Amino acid sequence: MRAAVLRAHGEPLDITEVDDLTPDPKGVVVGVEACGICRSDWHGWQGDWDWLGIQPQPGQILGHEPAGHVLAVGDDVTNFAEGDHVAIPFNLGDGTCMQCRTGHGNTCENPMPLGFVEPVPGAFAEQVHVPAADHNLVHLPDGVSSVDMAGLGCRFMTAFHGLAHRAPVAAGDWVAVHGVGGVGLSAVHIADALGANVVAVDLDDAKLERAEQLGAAETVNAADADDVPAAVQALAGGGCHVSVDALGIAETCRNSVLSLGTRGTHVQIGLTTAEERGMVELPTDVMTMKEIEFVGSLGLPPTRYDEIFRMVSRGKLDPSAVVSETVTLDDVNDKLEAMTHFETEGIPVIDEF
Ligand SMILES: [Zn+2]
Ligand SMILES: [Zn+2]
Repeated sequence: MRAAVLRAHGEPLDITEVDDLTPDPKGVVVGVEACGICRSDWHGWQGDWDWLGIQPQPGQILGHEPAGHVLAVGDDVTNFAEGDHVAIPFNLGDGTCMQCRTGHGNTCENPMPLGFVEPVPGAFAEQVHVPAADHNLVHLPDGVSSVDMAGLGCRFMTAFHGLAHRAPVAAGDWVAVHGVGGVGLSAVHIADALGANVVAVDLDDAKLERAEQLGAAETVNAADADDVPAAVQALAGGGCHVSVDALGIAETCRNSVLSLGTRGTHVQIGLTTAEERGMVELPTDVMTMKEIEFVGSLGLPPTRYDEIFRMVSRGKLDPSAVVSETVTLDDVNDKLEAMTHFETEGIPVIDEF
C-alpha cells in the first residue's frame, strides 16, 4: 500500500510503498477513503510533544483523522464486519482499563494516539489498523460520508466534548473562542448550535469572516485590540460564561481566562507548542477571586459519537463546513508546509491515496 512515512522531523514525508496490513485478533484493518490533515499532524511532523511522550519517531506513518470501510476483521472482533462504514477516533484506548470501561475511552490509561506512536501507524496511507476495534471503532450512520467524517476529524470531537460535556455551554451563554483555525471554527459552529452567543478572536480577518459564516455573533481581530480580553468582555456584557483556547499558546490561553466573567469556565482544547512545552503562566489571583474554572478536553469518548451524528442528521451541525478542499496523498507535504506559515484555512482532507 502507499503511505506517507516520517523520516526526519520537519523534512518532507516519504510517500512510498509499504506492506499491506493484517488485523491482530482484536483489531480490524480499514481501507482509508478520507483523512484530514490537521495542525496536530504538523506538531508531530515538527517533533513537538516529546514532553507528552507522543513525539513521532522516524518510520512513523502520520495521519489521525480517517474514515473508510472495513477490509479485514480479527477473529475476536464481534461488533464489526467486512464492508462496515466506520470512523476511527484519534485517541485510541486499550478497551480494558478503568477509564475505557467507564465510558471515558478518550482518556485511556494506556493511550495510543493514532499516527503518533509506534504501535498505531497512522492513516496517511491506503490502510490503517485499529486495535481493540470493538471498543474503539465507531459505525458511521447513513448520510455521513468518509470525507464528512474526516472533516469532523479530531477538531469537532474535541470541541464538542469541551463545550457540550466539559464546560458545559447553555443557551444564551457568551462563549469566546480564541484562535479560529480548524478546532476553533468547529468550536464556533458547535457553540452556536448549542444556543450560545459566540465571540471569535483571531489575527486573521479571513478566518474571522469564516467564523461569522459559521455563527459567530461578534469578532475581535487581536492585532487591532490593545487589550484583547477587555475587548471581548465589552462585547459580552462584562465577561464570557465560557471561553476556549483553541490554539494552545501562552497568549491565547491567558487571554481566554481573562475574557471570563465571574464563575466562568475556561476550556483548554489546544495542546501547546515547543515554546511553552506544556507550561503556561496563569492569573491565579483573578481566577481565585472570580471562582474561574479551568478544564481540559481531549477528544470524545467513542460511546458519545452518536450525539454529534444526531445533530448532523438534523442539519444542526454541518461537517463539511470546515473542509476547505480535498487533496491527494501526494499533496500532504505541501499542506504541512503551508501550516508552518499559517496559510491554511479550514481543513484539507485527503480523499485520494
Ligand atoms: Zn483504556
Ligand atoms: Zn487532528
